[in-house]
Amino acid sequence: MTNVILLGPPGAGKGTQAKTLSDRTSLIHVASGDLFRAALREGTELGMLAKSYMDRGGLVPNEVVIRMILERIDRPDCSLGVIFDGFPRTSEQAVALDAAMAEHNNHIDAVLYLRVPKDVLLRRIAGRQTCKTCGATFNIYYFPSHRPGICDACTGKLYQRSDDSIETAEHRLDVYFELTMPLIEYYQRQGILHEIDGQREISLVTEAMLLALKINPELTATSKE
Ligand code: AMP
Repeated sequence: MTNVILLGPPGAGKGTQAKTLSDRTSLIHVASGDLFRAALREGTELGMLAKSYMDRGGLVPNEVVIRMILERIDRPDCSLGVIFDGFPRTSEQAVALDAAMAEHNNHIDAVLYLRVPKDVLLRRIAGRQTCKTCGATFNIYYFPSHRPGICDACTGKLYQRSDDSIETAEHRLDVYFELTMPLIEYYQRQGILHEIDGQREISLVTEAMLLALKINPELTATSKE
């Protein structure tokens, strides 16, 4: 079993890379932001609570996100290993995750830190578009869909996340640098941090991540595709 954390600022490509890694391995993609957005679509209490924080680009309180994630990874599909995307984001969340893992005689094997400069992040976030139907992502600056507003994969409608406006994006980056950056040192001390250059082409980033996990990229190229 392998448990991996993808660490990096909003816009670093964690979601895109986590989906690919999950497709090419047996690991389950657990994205805290996706879980909140799903709860919001379903109109649950959790969704309503999260929305007030997400809209402002702030963080949902630790106890709420920790409970949600621990419930998710307790489900049987996660028994083969998990890719955490967007969690943990604070030292308190990291400590809670380590404790929960230890309770199950489990641990985090690797933390992949996607490093991308701030100016690139802002363009990536503000240009990001997501398909309403299949969740595929595009970027109006870097890889636009062939037909504006229409998903190349399934012809679904593309939308911009409400927290991807430039003002909210700047705030999310500030929050990241203040609260999430300390985690880099936390995992460095544990000797499990791998720094990946997140500015390279998407497929090269994937390859670097697989190599960091000691998985031969060629052996996984077609596993679930
Ligand atoms: P993301 O999709 O990871 O960019 O997350 C979108 C928003 O969900 C964030 O800006 C936060 O408001 C909230 N969120 C996601 N993950 C966490 C977390 N681990 N801790 C607190 N808030 C979170």
